Amino acid sequence: MDIKKNVETVTEEIEKACKKSGRVSSEVTVIAVTKYVSTERAQEAVNAGIIHLGENRAEGLESKYESIGSRAKWHFIGSLQSRKVKQVVDTITSIHSLDRMSLAKEIHKRANRKISCFVQVNVSGEESKHGLSPEEVIPFIDKIKDYDNIVVEGLMTMAPHTEEEEVLRSTFRQLRQLKEKVEAKGFSHAPCHGLSMGMSNDYQIAIEEGATHVRIGSKLVGREDQ
Ligand SMILES: *Cc1c(COP(=O)(O)O)cnc(C)c1O
Repeated sequence: MDIKKNVETVTEEIEKACKKSGRVSSEVTVIAVTKYVSTERAQEAVNAGIIHLGENRAEGLESKYESIGSRAKWHFIGSLQSRKVKQVVDTITSIHSLDRMSLAKEIHKRANRKISCFVQVNVSGEESKHGLSPEEVIPFIDKIKDYDNIVVEGLMTMAPHTEEEEVLRSTFRQLRQLKEKVEAKGFSHAPCHGLSMGMSNDYQIAIEEGATHVRIGSKLVGREDQ
């Protein structure tokens, strides 16, 4: 596994997708998802120039943070149990999986600074997926305004597992349109300029549709779990 090479390839692909859609690549934050790999590989990614790392479990985050520390910026991308918030809240730059009131309340309570959060949306409506339905998003954001340690930086979604470009594109486009609706509300606690969408198989399309944060695992660091 040549992580340096992967980083180069992904960087080139991002440049291409930006060019195609009239964007600049500095608008896109690449998060290397290290949930399937060892701390050593995560460290290799950092050595290859990766700044942002994503983990979906509190334990994975803690053990990698122990050796890598603040040389990387850490993102929590998976469903987060309320009782684990205190384990991760001091370490992370952003939480990408805010999907319920009880979690918002716990983040607010445990944080001693403002925490950047993405509200997770289940755009495709698949039962297996976490996240609020699109209709629930604005009422939810309105309701968390008193939890003032939370800043809603944007929305996050996971696209359906498919190769069909139109399905992916339409999912990402719906999230962007919803983000624009939230922005238009002018909530001071929810500037909501961010779109966390796009993974190994669909990040180019996500960028063409406006992604500001792509979460890429296997294409960057591979997998050691299979
Ligand atoms: C695992 C995971 C990713 C990365 O998946 P790849 O397909 O390996 O790029 C991105 N986002 C979330 C929420 C994940 O759980």
